[in-house]
Amino acid sequence: AESGTRAPLARLNDAQRLAVEHGIATHGVRPGPPLLVIAGAGSGKTDTLATRVAHLIALGADPRRMLLLTFSRRAAVEMTRRVERVAGQFAGRDARLTTDGLHWAGTFHGIGARLLRDCAEQLGLDPAFTIHDREDSADLMNLVRHQLGFSKTTERFPTKGTCLAIYSHAVNAEMPLGDVLAAHFPWCGVWEEELRKLFAGYVEAKQAQGVLDYDDLLLYWCHALAEPAIAAEMGARFDHVLVDEYQDTNRLQASILLRLKPDGRGLVVVGDDAQSIYAFRAATVRNILDFPQQFSPPAGVVTLERNYRSTRPILAAANAVISLAHERFTKNLWTDREATQRPLLTIVRDEADQARCIAERILRHREEGMTLKDQAVLFRTSSHSAALEVELRLRNIPFVKFGGLKFLDAAHVKDVLALLRFAENPRDRVAGFRVLQLLPHVGPAAAQRVLDAIAPAPSPLLALADAPPPPKAGTAWPALVTALRSLHERAHGWPSELALARRWYEPHLERLHENAETRRADLVQLEQIAGGYPSRDRFLMELTLDPPGATSDEAGAPSRDEDYCTLSTIHSAKGQEWKSVFLLNVVDGCMPSDIGTGQQHDIEEERRLLYVAMTRAKEALTLMVPQRFFVHRQAQYGDRHVYAARTRFIPDALLEHFEQDHWAGQDPEALSPAKSKVRVDLSSRMKAMWD
Ligand code: ATP
Ligand code: MG
Repeated sequence: AESGTRAPLARLNDAQRLAVEHGIATHGVRPGPPLLVIAGAGSGKTDTLATRVAHLIALGADPRRMLLLTFSRRAAVEMTRRVERVAGQFAGRDARLTTDGLHWAGTFHGIGARLLRDCAEQLGLDPAFTIHDREDSADLMNLVRHQLGFSKTTERFPTKGTCLAIYSHAVNAEMPLGDVLAAHFPWCGVWEEELRKLFAGYVEAKQAQGVLDYDDLLLYWCHALAEPAIAAEMGARFDHVLVDEYQDTNRLQASILLRLKPDGRGLVVVGDDAQSIYAFRAATVRNILDFPQQFSPPAGVVTLERNYRSTRPILAAANAVISLAHERFTKNLWTDREATQRPLLTIVRDEADQARCIAERILRHREEGMTLKDQAVLFRTSSHSAALEVELRLRNIPFVKFGGLKFLDAAHVKDVLALLRFAENPRDRVAGFRVLQLLPHVGPAAAQRVLDAIAPAPSPLLALADAPPPPKAGTAWPALVTALRSLHERAHGWPSELALARRWYEPHLERLHENAETRRADLVQLEQIAGGYPSRDRFLMELTLDPPGATSDEAGAPSRDEDYCTLSTIHSAKGQEWKSVFLLNVVDGCMPSDIGTGQQHDIEEERRLLYVAMTRAKEALTLMVPQRFFVHRQAQYGDRHVYAARTRFIPDALLEHFEQDHWAGQDPEALSPAKSKVRVDLSSRMKAMWD
């Protein structure tokens, strides 16, 4: 079908149009030569990508044959929505263009999981494989570590988390273990041989149990593509492969793309090297810088220089910060969004004042007509928003938080999901271990015995009925066996089987957890979320990979149509924008974090992080500088307050880009009666009792 109207193209600037129409004049909707769009923040990269997809669909391309890769599932949903809107404009008022078929939109991990499931048999994988999230993976790593005796005999062996980080880095960077240790974990270098054994054992355990961890989704996908027949088959599934935020992909992801589209036909990637902030997870900015030369003839390159997001003073300040970076692909971002208000650099006494100041200003903005949804508070680390959360709750300002403790990390939610996973894949020991230990009087040893007893059986769940029940588990044992059996046989159908899981869990919930009421509400919410997925398999897969970001706690997440502001880590704020953005703790020690050990490349990543944060703001940007700052768990000193200094990324020479102000709220201590000056050291008294 010909497009009814070209209106959406008229809105674009010349460079954007070049990217949207790249190759179409000569190839139509068939895959054309590869393209890289490299451009600064807010220049319309994501918009351009969405418009290109819509344009292709309007010209008759099949949305089912398009692969759209984004950095989060949320971003994929947002992108699909943008495509739908623009496609509607292409179609004109009367016609209806369907983008329903656009179902290959997601993260590398999510898409990898689906493709692997599709051809599991072909790849010798258990088609019922379950996926381990980071915590499960660390638990399994720990299990293997104990089996090998590394934790008992060897002092100062790296923790399970560090072991997993090392393993993951080696996999994602496609780097030999020795190099990873030398470059990123030098203090673990002496353990190289042990680690090698540990990782071999870990891989073996995963295979025996039919589980894949996050890294496996990329690794198996990439290895499958090394087989020419499979690569050809998979590559032929997609005419167009489009990737957003390409600067934050790792070696493995780049290899996947190259194997999927060796000649680059139909491949379009967009990104900004100045915004690369995932090197700590083995992402490499080389991917984007090297992209054009990986093909012959080289890929087309389009740069976008006009920023549509931010006002001139905000953009000037952000540009100034990134201009001090050591290495980058130089861009000249400009905007015609005039404004007189420079970004604010607000100095407050401490973090408590910081929270009060922000709450007050958020409310003032709202009085001036800015909705809460137009406002966001960003921070380096999830824990930094604690004081602010308390303050917002106190003042009844609704908010959602992204990038913090995830809903699905909550113990009770994990318990129920583990039951589903264990029913799906009875060889998944981490899931089984978790479920069995929910029973009364069943500890690790008893759980282990049960799992060992059923492991060799061809059908472990059938074997469960005959296995000797753990002593003292009582009636909880047959209840578990029945629940698992009916879940395994899918007796109740999806999603009603989630209700069955919840009923099974009910007595354990009461026994194991405080505030059962809140947790029960979470489980009801889980059931509602489940209703949005077509099958248990898709539900478990997508939730494990990229769970909904909002935490639910006593305050409860605001309902969808309520007005609320956003709290987010900078990492999770990638690609988004708000009218007003507050940035917490713009002080050395926090941005950059960890002044002691930071190597130059780490420091540079912190600078880009600040740049990403600043460029989220459209109209108002406030950088908060508390003069006293609470430092958690410093090795030598313990928790303590330190006197903080403004971040080194804004040296005096850049101060002209900011408006400086001091916020001095009411001193809460002045309001309460004076405290006695007497000091007692209770902790040493307590210790002295046992001397
Ligand atoms: P980031 O680097 O932060 O991911 P980006 O380059 O992907 O940014 P977008 O999010 O696509 O930028 O666009 C930024 C804003 O500019 C959006 O609000 C978008 O709608 C708007 N925009 C993009 N192109 C145009 C245009 N040609 N005319 C008007 N507005 C535009
Ligand atoms: Mg973007």
